[in-house]
Amino acid sequence: METALWHPFSDMAVVREHEFVVDRGEDVWVYDTSGNRYLDATASLWYANVGHGRQEIADAAAGQMRRLAGYSTFGDFANEPARELAARLAGIAPVPGAKVFLTTGGGEAIDTAVKIARRYHDARGESGRVHVISRAQSYHGTNGIGTGVAGIDANRTGFGELLPSSSRVQYDSVDALREEILRVGAENVAAFLFEPVIGAGGVLPPPEGYVRGVIDVCREFGVLAIADAVICGFGRLGTWFGVERWDAEPDLITFAKGVTSGYLPLGGVVAHERVAEPFWGRPGNTLRHGATYAGHPACCAAALANLGILEREGLVERGRTMEGVLADALAPLAAHPLVAEVRAGVGLLGAVELTAAVLERVPTAIGDLASLVRQRGVLVRTLGRAVAVSPPLTVRAEHLQEIEGALTAGLDELSLKL
Ligand code: PMP
Repeated sequence: METALWHPFSDMAVVREHEFVVDRGEDVWVYDTSGNRYLDATASLWYANVGHGRQEIADAAAGQMRRLAGYSTFGDFANEPARELAARLAGIAPVPGAKVFLTTGGGEAIDTAVKIARRYHDARGESGRVHVISRAQSYHGTNGIGTGVAGIDANRTGFGELLPSSSRVQYDSVDALREEILRVGAENVAAFLFEPVIGAGGVLPPPEGYVRGVIDVCREFGVLAIADAVICGFGRLGTWFGVERWDAEPDLITFAKGVTSGYLPLGGVVAHERVAEPFWGRPGNTLRHGATYAGHPACCAAALANLGILEREGLVERGRTMEGVLADALAPLAAHPLVAEVRAGVGLLGAVELTAAVLERVPTAIGDLASLVRQRGVLVRTLGRAVAVSPPLTVRAEHLQEIEGALTAGLDELSLKL
């Protein structure tokens, strides 16, 4: 039957009669409504870090819902799961005196972080600092600000100018950031937004020295550095917030996805004590921002149970210990004639990019490849020129071999079509 569900980022003229209905999940596996089993090589949208089907998280959320399903945290209202989650995240965040603002997802976290940055400057008498710099190829969600700064151009076009005071720089150059700040004028720049490893834009790890380098440039010019750890956090790069890998201390960190492993929607922003100070240090400077479900108790209870599993099972470290295993498993694909590049080696995050020649001859090649791989029981995610591999952190070496096997077979079949 034709669907009434409008899918995000989807060509509904095609999808309307071809939905892939996922029915249940267990660890690295998901099942469709006919009972067919698939290896979830993308952890859904890069988020099922502890794997699917964890009863412990379901029980924690259900228990909280029976006690108090939802309640506002505006004004002085609070609930224990939200308080405990904020304390827990502040304790593991790589910034001193961290304060935690909760949201319902990553895009809302981005808008929150940028608004905090602008209000921070405003409170310090620098209200001209509104400009936001992001990187080419970056993805920061689909809310207003996140859309306005999108580094994947196609995600920005056609919506009108959503954030007029913004610009993008080359994604791999510290000097490009410095030059852009000088061009715009430091007194006009509020923040620089960056994913430690660019995710949706192609799985692009930073060049040597990049993360520390851009943070140093931000400090030099009084610009706030916002690390978008929505994908990179909670073990994906082998650390809690991704950026610890480079010993970096951003001013603000956005998170979502792995904080609940997607069992319920939740995201947020971690603020360095210096950034929180104008709001927490003296009365009369209210941040007039926040959504109805900020600090939703059931979502926070799910997050706490998820963090418990990540910690108890050593899954955060596993993001690092398995990165070489993933890189080795995907390495043979680099020799395939249809493959331009295999990117892996920083966390449990990889991408296989097709050659320009294939993409030119068959514009649907990426989608075709994902379909062929799916027919072989493996789910990968399509990016612009590549497919991404970002399995649950519980993934084992034999699963990674299975992913490589399905990709090789899919590529071979795709070659026959050329
Ligand atoms: N930032 C990054 C780096 C992301 O990958 C995403 C989602 N893929 C977002 C922000 C937006 O998060 P959400 O979809 O939860 O709004």
